[in-house]
Amino acid sequence: MKVSLRRCESYETEGLLRALQSLLEPLGGIEAYIQPGMRVLVKPNMIGAAGPERAVVTHPTLVRVVVRMIKEAGGFPVLGDNPGFHTTEEALRRIYRACGYEAIAEEEKIPLLTKEGWDWVSVPNPYVLERIPMAKGMRDVDAVINLPKLKTHGLTGYSGAVKNLYGVMAGLSKAQHHAIFPKRNDFADMLLDIQRTVHPVLHIMDGILAMEGAGPTAGTPRWANFLAASPNPYALDAVCVELAGLPAHEMLTVQRSITRGLLGPHLQNIIILGDSLEACRCARPFLPAVKSRNIIVSQLRKWAVAVVPKPLRTALRDWPLFDYAACKGCGDCQRTCPPGAIAMGEDHRPKVDYSRCISCFCCQEMCRHKAISIGRRRVWPTRP
Ligand code: SF4
Ligand code: SF4
Repeated sequence: MKVSLRRCESYETEGLLRALQSLLEPLGGIEAYIQPGMRVLVKPNMIGAAGPERAVVTHPTLVRVVVRMIKEAGGFPVLGDNPGFHTTEEALRRIYRACGYEAIAEEEKIPLLTKEGWDWVSVPNPYVLERIPMAKGMRDVDAVINLPKLKTHGLTGYSGAVKNLYGVMAGLSKAQHHAIFPKRNDFADMLLDIQRTVHPVLHIMDGILAMEGAGPTAGTPRWANFLAASPNPYALDAVCVELAGLPAHEMLTVQRSITRGLLGPHLQNIIILGDSLEACRCARPFLPAVKSRNIIVSQLRKWAVAVVPKPLRTALRDWPLFDYAACKGCGDCQRTCPPGAIAMGEDHRPKVDYSRCISCFCCQEMCRHKAISIGRRRVWPTRP
């Protein structure tokens, strides 16, 4: 398993092109993955409408440079992603526009995937997911290049190469699959199933301007100043988690990759090419999306959550917590909640029925006003 690293401190186009060329050179260059005439899906992280300064989506300049490199190699790029919360083709176009991707498609004269609907795609030898409702157009390509963004994530701990492929699932069916797989391990296995089916030829991590804290949408932008690439997404994620100083034992997709035998523990069998780990390591660890625990506390907590009585379990679990001072009453959280646990009150405030909540944190992910955090609920009365 090979992962190439390259320090890179800005999104200036020419500098970024040189950085990407030297990043891919130890892996054989982009020509090792793209043959002339191939139709290639470029899959950024486009979780929602956000400008590049917020570090929510893959930087448009990185997307543009990769598109040019594919063209240079004789391929035909197609740009596309499918965020979980859009209902019409026009809404999807608005998101592409806000992220700067529509302009890339126009200027580089390449197709943008905007069609509504999906095609069913079977998962070979599935762990948990037998077929994927894949967004229209995504399967009609010869190869996929995955462009994840380095971010923390409320549910999975970290949003990297494996998690970014959840975007191939058509729109609102993503929320439904949170409800189908409410257990964290099953959800992570579903992500592994998607990765094994889509099987991108190459993954390039946008780790230049990253996000820490309340990711994947409400965290704080943070310069991490590196690019990472690999044909192996499990190795790439393990290395990026290490560089960000995030606790690997709490990063769900990394842990499940190890459990499923797709990856060895402790960066075992991973060969680092290009710049060294030390040259790219972040000066201080990323703030996690949810307060981090050491490995022993984390394991004890998992065990305790499974066996203790329900009231105590409630105290141990993480829940969405609402800040009504920041809430604008838009109702996005209510519309996105997979099990329908949120109702909007007459005062236009969301009210959660915690007995139905599966702690998927889709609401926190979708709230544009940073009005939802993740934490413990008080389950005993306060003193008068
Ligand atoms: S999405 Fe955020 S701002 Fe909108 S109603 Fe829910 S909590 Fe309030
Ligand atoms: S309230 Fe939030 S965390 Fe709970 S199920 Fe709904 S979307 Fe998921």
